[in-house]
Amino acid sequence: MENLTKMEQLYEGKAKKVFATSNPDLVIVDYKDDATAFNGEKKGTIHNKGIINNRVTNHLMKNVLEPAGIPTHLVEEISDRETIVKKVTIVPLEVIVRNIIAGSLSKRVGQPEGVKLGSTVLEYCYKDDDLGDPMVNEYHIVAMGWATKEEIDTIAKYALKVNELLTDYLKDLNIELVDFKLEFGKTSDGTIVLADEISPDTCRFWDSTTHEKLDKDRFRRNLGGEEDAYKEIMKRLLGE
Ligand code: UDP
Repeated sequence: MENLTKMEQLYEGKAKKVFATSNPDLVIVDYKDDATAFNGEKKGTIHNKGIINNRVTNHLMKNVLEPAGIPTHLVEEISDRETIVKKVTIVPLEVIVRNIIAGSLSKRVGQPEGVKLGSTVLEYCYKDDDLGDPMVNEYHIVAMGWATKEEIDTIAKYALKVNELLTDYLKDLNIELVDFKLEFGKTSDGTIVLADEISPDTCRFWDSTTHEKLDKDRFRRNLGGEEDAYKEIMKRLLGE
C-alpha cells in the first residue's frame, strides 16, 4: 500500500466518520462506539463497538466474500477502528435479506419472530432519514434513477450470494443469520461493489442452540448485555 495521508473529514454518519486521503479514489472509514436506533430517536454507546464492527466487517469481506467472487470496497485495515476503502457513490438503498421472520417483517405480516421463511426474501428501502427509509420495489428504483436495471440485477445477485456464503460460514460458528442489511456503491469506473459494513449493527445473529440475540436488538429493545453480545460475535468469528 502506498503512503496514504488521512485528510479532512468528508462526512459523519451515525456509526462512522469518513475521511479524504491523499489518493482521490480512496477514503478512510473510522468506526465509532455511538449506537442509534429508531431513525436516531434512541441514542447510546456500546463500548468498543467501533473496534468490533471494523474488524468483523473486514474479516467477512476479506476472508469469506472476496474469495467467493463478491467485489467489496475493502482495501486495507489500518488500525482497530480505521480502514482504507475505495471511494464509491453509495446507491441510496438499504438492501435487506431475510431468512427468518423478525423485526419490521414480523409486524408487517403479523407473524411471530423466529418463523423460518419458505424462501429467501429480498427487500429494498430508499435511504432517506426524513422519510423513514420507505420500502420500495425494483420498478421504483429504476424509474427514480437510483440504479439501472442492470445495476439492481447485479445488486440482487450479489445480495443473495452474500446470504448463502454468510449463512454457511456462520452455521459452523453456531450462529443463525436471521436477516441483514447491505449497502452497495459504484466506483469511479462504474463497478458495483459491496460497501458499508456487515456487523452486529446490521445483521440479526441468533445463537443456533439457545436462540439468544447476539446483535443490536439487545440495544434497540433494552435487553442489556449488548457489549458482551458484540464481544461474543468477535470471539466466534475472529477467535479473540
Ligand atoms: N437494518 C439496518 N439498518 C436499518 C434498518 C435495518 O442495519 O436502518 C438491519 C437490521 O439490523 C436487521 C435487518 O436490517 O438485521 C432487517 O431490519 P428490519 O427491517 O426488520 O428493521 P428493524 O426491525 O431493525 O427496524
